[in-house]
Amino acid sequence: MPKYTDFFQQSIDQPELFWGEQAKLIDWNQPFEKVLDYSQPPFARWFVGGKTNICFNAVDRHLKDRSNQAALIAVSVETQTEVTYSYQELYEEVNRMAAIMQAQGVKKGDRVLIYMPMVATACFAMLAALRLGAIHSVVFGGFASHSLAARIEDAKPTLIVSTEAGLRGGKVVPYKPLLDEAINLSSHKPSSVLIVSRHLCDYEKVAGRDVDYHELRAAHMDARVDCTWLEATDPSYILYTSGTTGKPKGVQRDTGGYAVALAATMPNIFCAKPGETMFCTSDIGWVVGHGYIIYAPLIHGMATIMFEGTPLNPDAGIWWSLVEKYRVSTMFSAPTAIRVLKKQDPKFLEQYDLSSLRNLFLAGEPLDEPTADWISSAIQKPIIDNYWQTETGWPILALQHGVEVMPTKLGSPGLPVFGYNMKLIDENTGEELGRNQKGLLAIEGPLPPGCLQTLWGDDDRFVKTYWQTIPGKMLYSTFDWGIKDDDGYYFILGRTDDVINTAGHRLGTREIEESIASHSNVAEVAVVGIADNLKGQVAIAFAIPKDASKTEGLEDQIMKTVDRQLGPVARPAKVYVVPALPKTRSGKIVRRALQAILEGRDPGDVSTLEDKNILTQIQGIIQGS
Ligand code: AMP
Repeated sequence: MPKYTDFFQQSIDQPELFWGEQAKLIDWNQPFEKVLDYSQPPFARWFVGGKTNICFNAVDRHLKDRSNQAALIAVSVETQTEVTYSYQELYEEVNRMAAIMQAQGVKKGDRVLIYMPMVATACFAMLAALRLGAIHSVVFGGFASHSLAARIEDAKPTLIVSTEAGLRGGKVVPYKPLLDEAINLSSHKPSSVLIVSRHLCDYEKVAGRDVDYHELRAAHMDARVDCTWLEATDPSYILYTSGTTGKPKGVQRDTGGYAVALAATMPNIFCAKPGETMFCTSDIGWVVGHGYIIYAPLIHGMATIMFEGTPLNPDAGIWWSLVEKYRVSTMFSAPTAIRVLKKQDPKFLEQYDLSSLRNLFLAGEPLDEPTADWISSAIQKPIIDNYWQTETGWPILALQHGVEVMPTKLGSPGLPVFGYNMKLIDENTGEELGRNQKGLLAIEGPLPPGCLQTLWGDDDRFVKTYWQTIPGKMLYSTFDWGIKDDDGYYFILGRTDDVINTAGHRLGTREIEESIASHSNVAEVAVVGIADNLKGQVAIAFAIPKDASKTEGLEDQIMKTVDRQLGPVARPAKVYVVPALPKTRSGKIVRRALQAILEGRDPGDVSTLEDKNILTQIQGIIQGS
């Protein structure tokens, strides 16, 4: 087995040789002519001329050897149901869904927006869209009408797949009214909306637009829809993520490169084997869910668990009972979830047989040492931190135990993953930094297969946002600070921009500010992220009222505004009503000073502030509340 250094170095020095070899992990309908075309940097085109289909690789190709093996295990503690679909059954459901989509006019290149909870039909819809060569855009079910409207406006879907409601802790969470409002707000209207009713509540059907999944499924029971062969460089999906402006960025992923990259991660990083079971506790609305609930385990011929529920329902043992029951070998979660479990009685972890479990992977936010220590001693399994972004689609930093078993260092996600030519850069000079020097974490192009190709419909924003922020060099900026130790291990030191990470969810403070500013009694607002023991970070808002005599109940109304427009995920933990905000003489709000006083730190250099007394006033308001 090649050792890490050789393996990694080949991926950087001879990318065509390296990725040409990895490409054998998937099935191709037509072989590629060229592994990499990087003639127009920073746009990398992988596996040029090759034709494939992700749905084929995730489903059809396994029918020969695995038709009776479990493919999808849909567990809902909310509806108390557990359904296992074999590869054959998954194939049939995906064909039915593809036929339904086709009947709604969906064809290659069209967008299908999926706004669904963690139910099996959401998985069928994702796979069916790709089967047809359509581009899916899954929107996290926790987002509300304005967030959804912005995504509908940008992606312009032909079809939206949704449901009337989700469930959270036994409570019905309506989806349909939020969806209807979002469609009203958007100037783009989908031709049809496919409602997968869960019989949880009544909902209004819009005549001529809304169609019923169960009725259509019954009409397509025996449907067979051929996979549409796509160019490797054709898009597979768009996934929106927060940036530093209020407008979310549509991360666009390719087809062949993504399938190859995911397939390569399974043996090399995740040490997972075909026929085993993977349990990723993320949500299909996030990038980890796309890759490691749906595509990677299925491409790799594994069974995957889709879980609807919370980690504490009916008790803190629920995940581990699933590990025992389904003999999970590979588990993937987020540090926040572990911090939630940490508060529970350890007996919930001790009473289950975890002998099938090989590794627990954690990603999405910094893994603090106490959390890592606690979970590793509680389950007695290797805990593998890995660092990545929606943009990359798969890990950038991780220990790659499938290549070579390397020692873990607490607080570090490890070493660069094959394909990523990492650099630590001085953000002012563009100079590359050495070991033990803090800098901006950057990646030299070409980005490896499966990373974002561009931002949907906006090549210019893609280039300007990611590739033109470092002076004098065209490097991809991660917008994270990092440091590398003497052994080459990286440590992530937080974001360089206004993106915050709440319970593993990435949020732009600007989006929250825009939402709060829409309240009729808000003149101006600043939102900052501050450290939180449980969620990593939380958002805190400072709002200046238009009419200072009418501030009673304003905090509550602001919270409700955010809930309604963006969804509860974006709700600030606290809103302070303040008379003014700290600003520079040129009128820029100095958010870092607000963050510092909230975290009890010295606000640092405040010489640029127009009025330094404002900070003292705000400090008084925080202490008095
Ligand atoms: P997202 O695009 O939502 O996956 O968020 C990506 C951001 O989350 C990164 O830019 C980091 O700031 C943070 N992040 C993800 N994984 C890790 C990790 N393992 N350690 C530290 N930060 C992480």
